[in-house]
Amino acid sequence: MNQQKIIIAIDGFSSTGKSTVAKQIAKHLGYIYIDSGAMYRAVTFFAMTQGFIDLEKFNINGLLSKLKNIDISFKFNKSLGFAEMYLNGENVEKQIRTLEVSNFVSKVSAVPEVRQQLVLQQQKMGINKGIVMDGRDIGTVVFPKAELKLFMTASSDTRAIRRFHELKSKGENVVYEDVLKNVQERDYLDSTREDSPLYKADDAIEIDNSKMSLDEQFTTILKLAEEALNK
Ligand code: C5P
Repeated sequence: MNQQKIIIAIDGFSSTGKSTVAKQIAKHLGYIYIDSGAMYRAVTFFAMTQGFIDLEKFNINGLLSKLKNIDISFKFNKSLGFAEMYLNGENVEKQIRTLEVSNFVSKVSAVPEVRQQLVLQQQKMGINKGIVMDGRDIGTVVFPKAELKLFMTASSDTRAIRRFHELKSKGENVVYEDVLKNVQERDYLDSTREDSPLYKADDAIEIDNSKMSLDEQFTTILKLAEEALNK
């Protein structure tokens, strides 16, 4: 068996199920899974708790002055089977997944200094390969030489329904229309920002999972991972 490890980069629009399949593949291959979106969410949550961002304003300079004080790390939770996000030593896994954070995150992630800091951290995590990372710029900026690049898509309705059920199941009191609006707004902001916009890398394989079951998606991607491993 080929013991060589590879990097698997999964990019795509919001709520395309990237993290679900990334976790499955990482578990199957014994790889590390990194949810890069969680890192941008943690910085956004930090900016909100510090009063740098609310409906009225985004104090970018305030956030930048504190950027070096933000310590972001993942700690593996054995019982959950995946790593949780810690911000300055505190588990913020639940706080970063709210619709409120989703509504601000694309503004924070468009700030070049924020990206620079997080991309550096992400590249260090992949130094020994054996990693599956999902996000918006993983195959284009973070790991342009990744052995396998995937670009996930699905219709915005399908994605909003998925996200709506996910938030509901976590006890959040959300309205479907607000979730759909957030998904569409983030698609737009993430793909039109100046620094590292979301787009499909030339060598990425596009997967539209609108009509795929989770099993089908897993089998399809595992096959691609095995092919990449055996190259
Ligand atoms: O993946 P998730 O939807 O949690 O990502 C939240 C947000 O973080 C995205 O909408 C995007 O603005 C930002 N992000 C990014 N680059 C990444 C991952 C996420 O800009 N690599």
